[in-house]
Amino acid sequence: MKQIVIASGKGGTGKTVITGAFAALAENKVMADCDVDAADLHLILKPSVKEKHIFKSGKTAFIDKTKCTKCGKCVKLCRFSAISDSYIVDGISCEGCAFCAFACPADAIEMKENVAGEWFVSDTRFGSMVHAKLGIAEENSGKLVSVVRKRARELAQETNADWVIVDGAPGIGCAVIASFSGADCAVIVTEPTLSGLHDADRVIRVAKHFGILVKVIVNKYDLNEDMTKKIEEYCKKNEITLLGKIPFDKCVVESMVAGKTILEHESGIARKPVIAAWRKLLKEIG
Ligand code: SF4
Ligand code: SF4
Repeated sequence: MKQIVIASGKGGTGKTVITGAFAALAENKVMADCDVDAADLHLILKPSVKEKHIFKSGKTAFIDKTKCTKCGKCVKLCRFSAISDSYIVDGISCEGCAFCAFACPADAIEMKENVAGEWFVSDTRFGSMVHAKLGIAEENSGKLVSVVRKRARELAQETNADWVIVDGAPGIGCAVIASFSGADCAVIVTEPTLSGLHDADRVIRVAKHFGILVKVIVNKYDLNEDMTKKIEEYCKKNEITLLGKIPFDKCVVESMVAGKTILEHESGIARKPVIAAWRKLLKEIG
């Protein structure tokens, strides 16, 4: 089984479009959407949910009004000003340090686990998919990504799948590190801009740090061919295979709106280069 993570230095580079197409092209696979802060692979793959699980992370103080003597100690002690004068805890401000619970003379404060999101195992027209939704204003997306990655890997082992195709988290934070976990190859999708190259370089360094093989795809390469040349030179200098250059294609948006991959759009000019990129990837790691 091979695990491929499609990643990018920032959001909006077309990473999910490439993931959706690779998900359609790979045979016998499990898919994972690790972009839990802004998940959108489901828009293309239209999953039908088979399992739904609660994701708990961190704790918040909860005051039992029947025990509270209104001594005011917790209000004074909380350095995050999370407890109001009427002894109500603001869940957003509470950092879950539990100092108030230790200090309360009436034992009226309990630390309760937060429901921080949900994760799902679903069926799609291309096979099983594990995905998640982080709650609004919730943190710890790295932990939720680890849950998604782990379940996708287990599911692939249980079903003897040949591939795990992962839509990675964007950027270089803990969520992207969690999505790289156990990966055989990271395909970095970038756009031909200076900031695109800079962002791609940062995520490539992260992947290399973890000993992951890196490949690159330039999306919308024809919007700035000089910059595309610079990215090609960067790849050559760093001995990174350029899997493909995908042209700007208005059919990409049309296919997304229709809930399809670019491969399912008959007149998309991006189709052939995406298929060629997948074949090149197969040759390199298959
Ligand atoms: S420290 Fe305990 S008893 Fe005192 S106000 Fe806070 S919750 Fe109530
Ligand atoms: S757990 Fe910590 S942050 Fe939350 S209310 Fe208590 S003292 Fe404040």
